[in-house]
Amino acid sequence: MDAYGKGAFALVAEADPWARELLEGVLKPRCSRVVAVESLEAALRTLALQPPDLALVAADLPGGAASLAAALRESGRRVPLIVTGAAGDIRRLLETVSLPGVRVAQRPIDPAALGEAVDEVLEAAGLKRRLEDAWELAHRLLDDMPQPAAIMQGARVLGINRAWLRFLGLASRQEFAARGLSLEQFLADPPPAEGLAAWACRLADDPLDREHTLRLTHPDRPGQPPHVFQVAVTRLPGPSRCLLTLADVTELELERRELLDLANLDPLTRALNRRKLAEVLADEAGRADRYGSPLSAVLLDIDHFKAINDTHGHDAGDAVLVELAARIRAQLRKVDRLARFGGEEFVVVAPGIDLARAAGLAERLRLAVAGEDFAVAGRVTASFGASQHMQGEAPEAMLSRADKALYRAKDGGRNRVEREAPPQTGA
Ligand code: GH3
Ligand code: MG
Ligand code: MG
Repeated sequence: MDAYGKGAFALVAEADPWARELLEGVLKPRCSRVVAVESLEAALRTLALQPPDLALVAADLPGGAASLAAALRESGRRVPLIVTGAAGDIRRLLETVSLPGVRVAQRPIDPAALGEAVDEVLEAAGLKRRLEDAWELAHRLLDDMPQPAAIMQGARVLGINRAWLRFLGLASRQEFAARGLSLEQFLADPPPAEGLAAWACRLADDPLDREHTLRLTHPDRPGQPPHVFQVAVTRLPGPSRCLLTLADVTELELERRELLDLANLDPLTRALNRRKLAEVLADEAGRADRYGSPLSAVLLDIDHFKAINDTHGHDAGDAVLVELAARIRAQLRKVDRLARFGGEEFVVVAPGIDLARAAGLAERLRLAVAGEDFAVAGRVTASFGASQHMQGEAPEAMLSRADKALYRAKDGGRNRVEREAPPQTGA
């Protein structure tokens, strides 16, 4: 027997001194402490001081074996019970009270058989205690981790650490359990469609071991931006068990976005800058060539912008640029990209549409600009040039055709749309 069994505390409740001595004889070599009492009252007093790991109760105990059995069950530790006595007494006891999982030892007691039964009970109790200790250890290790961590079994949270509870604003694991919370409730844009557990398991089995991030919002603070966590998942022994660890990268993510914005956007209008435009054009032209899908561009230039600056001031000119970018953006699909090409010149890259539809888009944009007065400068118009990418050509060729068309629009009186077809179509 290992340390868990040897540390056991056994209670014997038996009025007959001979039987008591025999039972003590079986228990003493197997337990670190044996308390043998004669009555229900004495047994209850012992129980109140310390619940035993094992109890041997005589079926004919004065005061009622049934009451003691009930008290043992209610002690919170589900004390394993062996009922001893004459066959008739045992039968009567089991008829009056339900004792699931109870073991019996009939008189005359066979010490060897009882010893085996006691060994089995203590071994089971030892295993249970070892399991509880293992969980306690796991929880302490989890709690020592500075980052949020949880042990999951499928969708169930088996263990959750202090760092995670702190993030959720909860004081204890009990509170987490009592509120019936699941981790899914903290997932935001977008939650994994397959559910957190299945998602986590898939992550654990990801052969490429890619980096994954998860956005979590607190349910009590729905308005606040979600935290961004980098997720690590480790499979644990046991069916669909895994350890989910989160590293808060919200600050890093914000900084990364700011840097990306700085690198890619025009600070005034937040349209893409020329550097990013070149990248987008190369990507889209590559995609169009690969899939044989159309790709178009609309170039636009504000008419007499110099006069706007001269009349209303440079700040008003800036405000016009910002408002114009917003008006154009409002007309675009998600796949379209708006870039600031130069001072008061913008370009829209429109994948999936041909020249005719690009000219249609340009016309809508023209109306969106000229159709309504600008807040600080009144009426503003712009001229437009539309063009389409030709299979295999350099992406800049499409822009120079758009520029040609734009030049014609300016020449033709401004506030109008012109298009320039690729040379070989003859259109
Ligand atoms: P057109 O109809 O032929 O296009 O005439 P325009 O006056 O619009 O063209 P021009 O190229 O003569 O003038 C463009 C002006 O845009 C000159 C420049 O000072 C102004 N500009 C360029 N960038 C900015 C900016 O960021 N803010 C402001 N307010 N003005 C700018
Ligand atoms: Mg201009
Ligand atoms: Mg210009």
